[in-house]
Amino acid sequence: MKKIKNDTIASRAGIESDKQYGSVIPPLYLSTNFVFDEVGHLPEYDYTRCGNPTRDILANALSEIEGGVGAEITSSGMAAISLVANILDLNASVILPHDCYGGTHRLFTSLKEKGVLDIHFINQGNLQATIKKIDEIKPALIWLETPSNPLLQVVDIQAISAAAKLANALIAVDNTFLSPVLQNPLKLGADIVVHSTTKYINGHSDVIGGAAITNNQELLTKLKYWANNLGLTGSPFDSYQTMRGLRTLSLRMEKHEKNAKALVEVLSNNKKVAKVYYPGLPHHESHDIAKKQQNGFGGMFSFELEGGLPAVKKFFAEIKNFALAESLGGFESLICHPYTMTHAPLSPEEKEAAGISEGLVRISTGLENTDDLIDDLNIALQKI
Ligand SMILES: *Cc1c(COP(=O)(O)O)cnc(C)c1O
Repeated sequence: MKKIKNDTIASRAGIESDKQYGSVIPPLYLSTNFVFDEVGHLPEYDYTRCGNPTRDILANALSEIEGGVGAEITSSGMAAISLVANILDLNASVILPHDCYGGTHRLFTSLKEKGVLDIHFINQGNLQATIKKIDEIKPALIWLETPSNPLLQVVDIQAISAAAKLANALIAVDNTFLSPVLQNPLKLGADIVVHSTTKYINGHSDVIGGAAITNNQELLTKLKYWANNLGLTGSPFDSYQTMRGLRTLSLRMEKHEKNAKALVEVLSNNKKVAKVYYPGLPHHESHDIAKKQQNGFGGMFSFELEGGLPAVKKFFAEIKNFALAESLGGFESLICHPYTMTHAPLSPEEKEAAGISEGLVRISTGLENTDDLIDDLNIALQKI
């Protein structure tokens, strides 16, 4: 039988599964506990921390789209990342990108300081140096996050996975920035995929959630054991809302990307813009690898304004249809100043090393009318 595609999987998940009333949409099971038919016979579900039918509809749909054998839905993206950290043995070595999500950086740094894990942050943009480091320290886990934030650098999942296999290391990929519609790391050799479903998957900026998906049955058993053990599993209501978001993910990603491409073009042709970072641009350093491993270039980009902070302040004061806020992936366009917002905890030297200048602006394109967004950008640029 021909495998059904992502948009069909998301549309069909749980439909017609209600045996009691035949509701088309699967019901929301908020119940914390479930009845045993008889003593000594464990039902499919007994207690919602361990398992819940509403959560499983989302887990199964996400797993199918990513090409996994199963998934655990967690209460946040950070809970999914903590879950992966918790399946490792004491003192296990982990290699992470130096420019990973701030919360990931803080979590693994704290676990290192407590003497729980041996952590190495490196520049994974350098493939040869990454492979050398893998050979050298033989890590238990290599963490990838691609494209990176906020400069959208892409690392080669397939090449790093191949090196990891030789060293007997696991590969986990944070796939939040592209969503499972635009990138499927398991198909490129990864063992675990993590999402902050808070972003594109829910897509409506009203649920905090996460997921860890794997294509390895043994790893799935471990993830499920530790998710229940640590109490990291997501709530049924959040899963219901997130499933509602997932149903339209493919459609939304198309519009996010359409808007991103249109705005990137406007910015690329404006003299007040020094540089635009979007892997869809042929001259972006990661264009070729992004084209090879991604199903699209996504809805995130950043750019540098000429004139530094004063120009940024003026620009932000004029812009109307983009909300000044952190986070990404919602239906609403967001604009952010990494230097003072998402990357504020970094020292000035670390910011410089990561390429985050005072003039850098990051945009998460929403679903608004393309022309309205273009007009808005043009007017704000004129006023600088
Ligand atoms: C937001 C985010 C996270 C953390 O997810 P939460 O749902 O906020 O806990 C992890 N990784 C990336 C890339 C993110 O953008």
